[in-house]
Amino acid sequence: MSISKRIIGIGAAALGLVLFSALPGCKPAGKKDAQAMRAAAKLPDIKARLAKFAPTELMYDAGRLSAEDRQVLQKLVEAARPIDDIFWRQSYPEGLTLKADLERSTAPEDKDYLQFLMINFGPFDRQDGNRPFIGADAKPAGAGFYPRDLTRAEFEAFIKEHPGSKESVESPYTIIRRENGGLKAVPYNVEYKEFLEPIARALREAAAMTSNPSLKTYLSHRADGLLSNDYYQSDCDWIDLKDNLTEIVIGPFEVYEDGLNGIKASYESFVYVNDQESMKKVKGYLAYLDEMQRSLPVDKKYKAAVVTGLDSPLNVVSEVFTAGDTKAGVQTSAFVLPNDERVREKKGTKKVFLKNVMEAKFNKSLIPISQRVLAAGETKFVTFDAYFNEIILHEISHVFGVNYITLPDGTKTTVNKALKDLNPAIEEGKADIVGLYNVRLLMNKGWIAKDRKREIYSTYLAGLFRAMRFGVKEAHGRGTLVQFNFLKEEGAILYDRASDTFKVDMSKFEDAVRDLASQFLIVEGDGSYEKAAQFLDRYGVLDAFAENALKKLADIPVDIAPIFPLKF
Ligand code: ZN
Repeated sequence: MSISKRIIGIGAAALGLVLFSALPGCKPAGKKDAQAMRAAAKLPDIKARLAKFAPTELMYDAGRLSAEDRQVLQKLVEAARPIDDIFWRQSYPEGLTLKADLERSTAPEDKDYLQFLMINFGPFDRQDGNRPFIGADAKPAGAGFYPRDLTRAEFEAFIKEHPGSKESVESPYTIIRRENGGLKAVPYNVEYKEFLEPIARALREAAAMTSNPSLKTYLSHRADGLLSNDYYQSDCDWIDLKDNLTEIVIGPFEVYEDGLNGIKASYESFVYVNDQESMKKVKGYLAYLDEMQRSLPVDKKYKAAVVTGLDSPLNVVSEVFTAGDTKAGVQTSAFVLPNDERVREKKGTKKVFLKNVMEAKFNKSLIPISQRVLAAGETKFVTFDAYFNEIILHEISHVFGVNYITLPDGTKTTVNKALKDLNPAIEEGKADIVGLYNVRLLMNKGWIAKDRKREIYSTYLAGLFRAMRFGVKEAHGRGTLVQFNFLKEEGAILYDRASDTFKVDMSKFEDAVRDLASQFLIVEGDGSYEKAAQFLDRYGVLDAFAENALKKLADIPVDIAPIFPLKF
């Protein structure tokens, strides 16, 4: 419900939602145009575009790793590397020609274009609706998955005429070619064989190195899966991993790159080290689930008697290396996998938090944001530890309130169905504010020290401005604006005109948080679409204050460009 890969408020990835909106009047680029594109005009503001991504070394604690772990880790990185080669071809194969040209170029500005091309895996700015920054052609909707001139209508008509080919043509794991006047599905394991073979070899070598039985099984099954195009068994094995420090996610997963049909999966890889200490801490919160639910500031009917619990365990890890889809544009800071419904039903899913990525984003975005919009002296209260707590509490707080409701006319339904398109903004806002409300209970229990109040609330306030940057159209952005406007109206957030900055009024803050948490929970529990719409229209708006603050933040990086130190 909360972190489908690209829709993570906590990860700034929400900006990735503007993918694929081709510019009006642009025709899709064809291979013949590659030559012309190279000579074509380049957007002059490349430095400003590049500055949105702060180059950052992603550090991880290698001290906990044994000699064996380090060897395995090195092999896993080796396995992940060719994923980039595959993703270039899936995204925009001509990008590789452009890349080679820019690498050869001696013009100093081409270094910037090359760097930005590498960030975007092609000459299209993923943060700007895929606007071309080299040349004028639009990104093909079907990326590298389909013939360039194929339309959705033709694709659908072909399936209608050839029902026997439906499964292979619609498979997430095939690309589509033209052949004998028709369409032909080529399986990924055939199309990308030259890259998959060395990947499988490295995975098998890593499997031979590790003494952890669950990792050994997973890695060898994954190697089989990549070569056979059947990922079921190794997806199950990934869920069953136990007591391993090093880990890899590798294969075709998300379908966002396919703007034509949204069905073809892109290759990506995460290599990471499990952070068992942080995971233990996260599990500690779960002991309070029932108490948190009971103490919500609403009538009984707005909180289910039994908390159904989290839909998947929370894993905290340090990212060591990434490749492919996940590295393009905004960096993923949390993901939920696998996507295969059969595996989800049988084994469930894993939710993985990339803690060092979150910390890097925090340092490069949230700290500078707080320096500009918070009152003087407040930034010292903005800490990563408080921010990370907030993220965990947000995730946990999705389960609170009610899920199943009965409408006034007797209809039994779910909050999600009743609030329809408004549900994501309401649900994300609820998770934020109920998470913050729960801080008080955790302080009373001694789980969070009481003297950290100011730190937690100031960090929360800075975080509002970060999430606001996603805009009113995005669920987290809108849910955030509701909080900002409500708390400002209640006097819990104070604006100082002279310094043009904000701060928390500690005397009013907790009561206002309680009242807002209650409003969100009631909107969900009542399940009235009209009331939800009124609530969002009243508070989920970009007012002059928010707009002015956002203007001040325009040049602060929206994300990091990761640098992987890779010291084994
Ligand atoms: Zn969420």
